[in-house]
Amino acid sequence: MDACDVVIVGAGAGGSAAALELSKSDLKIVCLEQGTFTSNSDLPGNGVDWEIRSQKKFNINPNIRRANSDYPVNNGKSPISIANFNAVGGSTVLYSAHYPRFHPSDFQIQTLDGVGEDWPIVYEDLEPYYEEDRKNTPVAGFSGDTAYPQIKGLLPPVPLGSLGRKIAEGFNALGWHWWPSYSGIATAEFQGHRTCINLGPCNTGCPIGSKSSDDLFYWPKALSNGVSLKTECRVSRIEIDRTGKVSGVEYFDSVGNSQFLSAKLVVVAASGIGTPRLLLNSKSDRFPEGLGNDSGLVGRNLMLHPWGYVEGLFEENLQSHFGPQGCLIASHEFHDTPEDEPFKRGFTMQFQRGPFPLESATRQFLRKKLPFGQEHHKVFRQTFDHTAHLSIIVEDLPELHNRVVLDESLKDANGIPAPKIEYALSENSKKILSFGIEKGKELMKASGALTTFGFGPVRETGYHILGTAKMGNDPKNSVVNMWGQSHSIPNLFIVDSSVFVTSSSVNPTPTIHAIALRTAKYIRENFSTIMKV
Ligand SMILES: Cc1cc2nc3c(=O)[nH]c(=O)nc-3n(C[C@H](O)[C@H](O)[C@H](O)COP(=O)(O)OP(=O)(O)OC[C@H]3O[C@@H](n4cnc5c(N)ncnc54)[C@H](O)[C@@H]3O)c2cc1C
Ligand code: SF4
Repeated sequence: MDACDVVIVGAGAGGSAAALELSKSDLKIVCLEQGTFTSNSDLPGNGVDWEIRSQKKFNINPNIRRANSDYPVNNGKSPISIANFNAVGGSTVLYSAHYPRFHPSDFQIQTLDGVGEDWPIVYEDLEPYYEEDRKNTPVAGFSGDTAYPQIKGLLPPVPLGSLGRKIAEGFNALGWHWWPSYSGIATAEFQGHRTCINLGPCNTGCPIGSKSSDDLFYWPKALSNGVSLKTECRVSRIEIDRTGKVSGVEYFDSVGNSQFLSAKLVVVAASGIGTPRLLLNSKSDRFPEGLGNDSGLVGRNLMLHPWGYVEGLFEENLQSHFGPQGCLIASHEFHDTPEDEPFKRGFTMQFQRGPFPLESATRQFLRKKLPFGQEHHKVFRQTFDHTAHLSIIVEDLPELHNRVVLDESLKDANGIPAPKIEYALSENSKKILSFGIEKGKELMKASGALTTFGFGPVRETGYHILGTAKMGNDPKNSVVNMWGQSHSIPNLFIVDSSVFVTSSSVNPTPTIHAIALRTAKYIRENFSTIMKV
């Protein structure tokens, strides 16, 4: 039987940051990850046929990929389906690297608006760890943004290009906030990594290694500090001893054999869906409803950021597909609750590049705007690169009935019960979404669009999976405390997006990194005290 001090389950955003921070101690650390390292030569972006090659192995939908590293997700009845990637680096391998922090107001929406709950921590608690993250991974942007307290030391922002300049004119005409995206992209030399060359296909993995995926930026440092990373190892259960503390994990190794790894402390970082799944699968006599689930909240309060899409068609060629796919301009004009609207909280606007030729043609064809035959190329040339694309990201509020449960029959390749999503859009989220889509169209028109088009929620956008093991001060109303430590099991910690109390309307990865770094520092500085409890 193997033994270690700390076992981390999952090598994605939370697990990567925790591994690097914990590696600054003498503790023996092992990370078990069900996926593998992604080989650069496999990345679709290395070939001209990349749009076709990204449809299967690098699809964002685990039910389409169906790789050995994936587990199926029953989201058949949810209006939003789960998007993720299971590998070293987790979902950051495919993410867009749009890299905004949460705002100070995001941690206190109950106090400010009487909805959701306040976090047990505030922005200032995380600020040093946002800064620490910036030393570990590239963050580009522009200081002076009025939407945030001062953020310094950023790499140069991604280029706006013709598309960005056009949209900025619209924002200026309306007098709305806009700012170049905070982008997890090496826009200048960063620790020996190559500089972004604005190729575009970031969402299938960056072929030159400029995008801040954690396999490329966090893991090499954690490994050289001595962390042991075991890939193709899927944890099926966390075990407890007779005193009710965790004693280690059961897992299936790369050839399917069941193994046990004894550990003094367990850090779970399996994502907002993988973590509740593992805890619910780790039932015992002491925890009949799932490990650490005395509150009954494991899996509940699932928040998914309902997504709206707005498109504008322009006369001029905006070269819209050049540049980092998810990073261009963001607007926080409608982030907080507006006056005189029938909803609480709001949305952000995230401008994107693309679509690329195949996606552009498919979308226009499905909307009956692009014919086959003689007119095909002519019409294609009038739309391709002539469109601007906007995401409306809605702040979803926590609701008990939105949740991750175990499916009664669906199982993964190792026979472990798979997760099922029970999720319905709230009236509040629906109202924000339709308001946001209208505002997006208004912006497109102010920027000079000839026509606009918008809809939501977009189904394949469950990228941000939040809130399913939330932190809090009250053990009856939360799963972990402000340090990510289980209220009922002192040597069990959670460091991924499950611990979020509310969702903000911005992308979560910088906040996941910051929370994981903070929790891991707490563990390494208090390890012997935690062991005595
Ligand atoms: C297409 C796409 C675009 C995105 N764009 C952005 C963006 O622009 N900005 C942003 O901030 N966020 C973005 N995100 C979201 C971001 O990637 C995630 O929020 C973040 O990676 C979540 O971190 P995590 O640690 O919670 O989970 P993950 O990064 O998903 O990592 C979880 C890891 O745990 C492993 N695991 C799960 N269960 C087990 C088990 N039982 N045993 C062993 N290993 C296990 C998984 O294989 C996985 O590697 C995007 C996501 C996608 C899919
Ligand atoms: S745009 Fe930059 S970060 Fe994105 S794939 Fe190309 S080189 Fe990589």
